[in-house]
Formats: sequence, C-alpha cells, structure tokens
Amino acid sequence: MEAPKPMQFDVVTIFPDFFGSILVHGMLKRAVAGGQLAVRLHDLRDFSEDRHRTVDDRPFGGGPGMVFKPEPIFRAVEAIRAEAADVPVILLSPQGRLLRQPVVEELSQRSRIVLICGRYEGMDERVAESLATDELSIGDYVLSGGEIGAAVVIECVTRLIPGVLGNEESIVQDSFGGEEFSGEPSGRRLLDWPHYTRPAEFRGMRVPEVLLSGDHGEIRRWRRRKALEKTFRKRPELLADLPLDDEDRQVLEELKQASWLPVSPQQG
Ligand code: SAM
Repeated sequence: MEAPKPMQFDVVTIFPDFFGSILVHGMLKRAVAGGQLAVRLHDLRDFSEDRHRTVDDRPFGGGPGMVFKPEPIFRAVEAIRAEAADVPVILLSPQGRLLRQPVVEELSQRSRIVLICGRYEGMDERVAESLATDELSIGDYVLSGGEIGAAVVIECVTRLIPGVLGNEESIVQDSFGGEEFSGEPSGRRLLDWPHYTRPAEFRGMRVPEVLLSGDHGEIRRWRRRKALEKTFRKRPELLADLPLDDEDRQVLEELKQASWLPVSPQQG
C-alpha cells in the first residue's frame, strides 16, 4: 500500500535558516522522520530579480522603515501554485484572525499550506488584497517577523496530524480540544485538568487521594470537575459557548455558589 503523503508547509521567508533548529527536535523531528510532515523553505530573495536580491523598498507617502515589495512574494507563491493551484496562502500578520484551536483544527484538515513571513513594516498591501487567502495572527502583540508565528502554526497543526503524537489521548485531554478531537459527545474546549506524578507526597504537598484510588469512574468525574473549575477560574469566557451536560451544570452551579470569585488571568 502506498504511504500517505506528508502534510506540507511551504514557508516564504528571508530567514530560511531560522527553521533549522525547530525541525530537529522532539515532535516535529519525529513527524518529518516519520513522513507525516514536510517543510519546504523558500528564500524570498531567490524570487528577487535584481543582482542585490532586493526584497524591500521605502513606503510610498513617507514614514519610517521598509516594506516588502510585492513582486518577489507574488513570484514565490505563483511558483508554489504551479504545483498546487488551490493551496491556501496564509500571511502571518498581527492584523489577521487570531490563531485559536478551532482554526488550528481547520488547518490540520489541509494537505498543504503556504506561510508568508513578513519583516520590517510588513508588506505591500496588495499581497493581502489579492494574493493571500487568509491572514493569521498568533496574538495581540507585534513581533519583528513572521517566522516565529509560522513556527507556532507548524507546531500546533502538526500535533493534530493523525499518528504524529505517540499517544492520541493527549489531544483528547489537552486544553481547548474540540469535540472531533476530544471524542467527548458534548465537546470540550475546556482547560486541561491538573496532572501529578510520583512522588505521592512532595515537601508536604500530597497528590489528591482520588488519583491514587484506582477508581476510574471517580477519577474521570474528578478530572472533568477540575477541568471545569480551572476554566471557570482562569478563562470563564470559554464556558459561554460550551455544550454542558447536567453534571457539568451542577458542578458550575456549585462553583458559582462557593465563596471565591473567578480570578482573571491578569489578576493571577
Ligand atoms: N506594521 C505592521 C502592523 O502594525 O500591522 C507590523 C509589522 S511587524 C513589525 C513585521 C512582521 O512580523 C509582520 O509582517 C508579520 O509577518 C510578523 N508579525 C508581527 N506580529 C505578528 C503577530 N502577532 N502574528 C503573526 N505575525 C506577526
């Protein structure tokens, strides 16, 4: 039987060497070695047509900094599209839609994705207007370049490719895991429950007894309760859209009635 094709990321960047280190460690290294992931790096300067390999120019209208010129980026993407016409072309940008787990799940369904990394003041707006199919931001802050964002996309999408994680169950329990990935009929999208390992007692701090009890029904209920509790305390807004069953609703009611108030992440 023919081996399935790897998921491929085509990264367009002026710093292709940046990606060397992330691909030779841990999960990404295993995914590449296992044939589940391929990352092709395209040096944007290879698509410049002048002898200085120029990719940037001053902004029209004046102002500080430099802007990526449109021609090399269009040429780079057109070369990739010659191999895969309908490949999604994603611009890393602080102005893009926020990379959240449902977006990651959506991307994990694709077989090939182009990631374009900006630098300087960003890139000529015509790239966003008529070349990119999507713009993604990894958070509401400004980085100096798109490479770290591209690495984040590659990392979080790759761990959802079937067979990449040794233990698929970790996708089930991870924070933000959705219905399809959690296998739980009510969906999840909760923060993960707390984890403990040996020793059972460390500097006077004891692991919750239920985890040592061997009672799997009780452990399952405790974990669900703790996941709800953590989400309620740290990210209560996640609960708004969550499909809850009767037991969940009861747990949340108890939490609301308890004396403490939800603590926002800013308050610690
Ligand atoms: N002038 C741009 C603006 O304010 O929207 C910011 C340009 S930023 C200094 C340079 C490049 O870093 C961007 O083109 C983008 O590729 C990348 N970048 C910066 N912040 C990012 C973020 N939050 N998410 C994804 N990429 C980001």
